[in-house]
Amino acid sequence: MKIRNGFVSNSSSSSFTCAVCGDEQSGMDLCLSECEMFECTNGHTFHEECVKADLNSPKVQKAYMLDQLKAAIVSATKELEKTNNSHHEYYKKRLEESTKQLKNLEAGEVDDDELDDMCDDWEFRYNAPEGVCPICTMEKFDDSDIRRYVFKRYEIDTDALKVEIKEKYPTYREFQLSLKD
Ligand SMILES: [Zn+2]
Ligand SMILES: [Zn+2]
Repeated sequence: MKIRNGFVSNSSSSSFTCAVCGDEQSGMDLCLSECEMFECTNGHTFHEECVKADLNSPKVQKAYMLDQLKAAIVSATKELEKTNNSHHEYYKKRLEESTKQLKNLEAGEVDDDELDDMCDDWEFRYNAPEGVCPICTMEKFDDSDIRRYVFKRYEIDTDALKVEIKEKYPTYREFQLSLKD
């Protein structure tokens, strides 16, 4: 076995493409906040300023936190109903905390800064609801979704298509040129 002694890096290259403007941002260990982007629960990424909804507004943040806390309460309750749960204390604490936070939020006792912190803790940026995502609300379409739709809608046999392309174009370059308008 060959052992590598050289420079070992934990950083990895990442890239995000905005579903609205199409800009791609990439870099080592890049995170969404550096790109001023959000990711929805279905994995679509988009710039804050490219969407209609103000993702940092208290209204959007509050709706997010209400959903998150209610879901956390449901899941913690379910976990606690299981017998022999080795994480009993964890879920008990989680249930208590979530219930308290939900009560405060519903009573209007959480100020905007606290709400902002809460959203950070609950990773709003990586978990934005479908309602604010341009793809999930079908304001914009993702090319790969369209491609899948076309394949299905017209019952396209992709294997036959690959054979056809190879026959028509001897090189990848010629194939690419054929795709230009
Ligand atoms: Zn954008
Ligand atoms: Zn989405």
